[in-house]
Amino acid sequence: MALMILDICSRCDACLSECPNEAITAGRPYTIDPSRCSECVGFFDTPQCQDMCPVMGCIVPDPHHPRVAA
Ligand code: SF4
Ligand code: SF4
Repeated sequence: MALMILDICSRCDACLSECPNEAITAGRPYTIDPSRCSECVGFFDTPQCQDMCPVMGCIVPDPHHPRVAA
């Protein structure tokens, strides 16, 4: 239940301050800690990093950490 950042990231930093779980780390590449990312459930209706990211398709579901069906 986590998202991941792809290599097309422009390193704009827009997502960093938006994460309520401080799951995003700047670097090369930018990364999302799957143990911290909740896909923003409980905080917001939509993932805030995806909403803020100016690069279309840059932040996607992490296939290794899929959302658990309710
Ligand atoms: S989906 Fe939410 S919790 Fe996960 S990295 Fe993005 S902003 Fe943080
Ligand atoms: S908002 Fe998108 S392009 Fe900007 S640093 Fe975050 S993942 Fe990269």
